[in-house]
Amino acid sequence: MTLITRANIEERERQWLRPAALRSGESQGRRYTEKEHDYRTAFQRDRDRIIHSTAFRRLEYKTQVFVNHEGDHYRTRLTHTLETNQIARTIGRVLRLNEDLIECIALAHDLGHGPFGHAGQDALQVLMKQYGGFEHNQQCLRIVELLEDNYSTFPGLNLTAEVRDGLRKHQKKAVPSLEAQVVDLADEIAYDSHDLDDGLRAGYFHEKDLDNLKLWKKNKDYLRRHKVNIQETHGRKAAIRLIINQQVNDLLKMTERQLARFKNVKPSVVRAKAEEMVRFSPQMKRDKAELKRFLHRELYHHYRVVRMTDKGKRFIENIFRAYLKEPMQLPPGIRLRLKTDPLERVICDYVAGMTDRFALDEYKRLFEPYERV
Ligand code: MG
Repeated sequence: MTLITRANIEERERQWLRPAALRSGESQGRRYTEKEHDYRTAFQRDRDRIIHSTAFRRLEYKTQVFVNHEGDHYRTRLTHTLETNQIARTIGRVLRLNEDLIECIALAHDLGHGPFGHAGQDALQVLMKQYGGFEHNQQCLRIVELLEDNYSTFPGLNLTAEVRDGLRKHQKKAVPSLEAQVVDLADEIAYDSHDLDDGLRAGYFHEKDLDNLKLWKKNKDYLRRHKVNIQETHGRKAAIRLIINQQVNDLLKMTERQLARFKNVKPSVVRAKAEEMVRFSPQMKRDKAELKRFLHRELYHHYRVVRMTDKGKRFIENIFRAYLKEPMQLPPGIRLRLKTDPLERVICDYVAGMTDRFALDEYKRLFEPYERV
């Protein structure tokens, strides 16, 4: 038996992937040239770099919707990222797209989020308004291109152009690659479904409140019709599973129909199109919009969630302002960055990188008289 080489995998990609998929062997390369690896493709290597990054490990203690200390079973940014990745890879495999590239984009897609979920982004946006702003997708690029500090020969992770491009959401004129489009919608499938699940588990709303939601009702009816005799918790879990499955099925069917219209189309042609080819059916879009409206009303605006997030905002504002008033409070390693960046940006990068837990501890260190500094 001979060992598999990178060239073998690249050849398999050439044969197996659809023409519109991006191939690792045809990558536009990295900003800083490096020797290719013996048995990992360029995208596989990027995936490994992302998993080994500090920013990735921090996802474990960053809020998705529920602040970390609210309970051990709610989604965190890390488990959200893994669920997104799993859904995206399944879709990509069935569509014969590049699963490794999908994995890179999925695993990195939320690296730029600050502590306390969207509250973190809102607070930093206000604080940075006059200093170039803050947006989590841009921050994600900053992390992989500049802030991660693992190599002596280049800043950041030196990822391939295709991965960085897939992370450059809302910032470009061209339509994203099919792989990036898949991650985008898998992200939505993941959070719509798991937020519904977490909201039910938290008791912020109940199953009877969902009776008017088409996506929920259809799947509960299916369980009833098939006389699946299950307890309430299993019933909830089965319904969530079916909701994910139904969305993925719909997306696969619609996307295959789109792609079939453009046989043998190259990735560059996909990108020049006016609209994205990975999509849901109009009916599914309506059902999802209904679910999103429900979640906005009953979960994201639930008074306890609003309290959690508003408290998070206050922590961030106070920490940020304290550093700004006296930058000597910043750790020396962070102050080094003042040689190349303005103070506000250095503080913003530092605060955005914090986990919920670290931000809470730092708040105590800065403001509580008897806390060790
Ligand atoms: Mg996400």
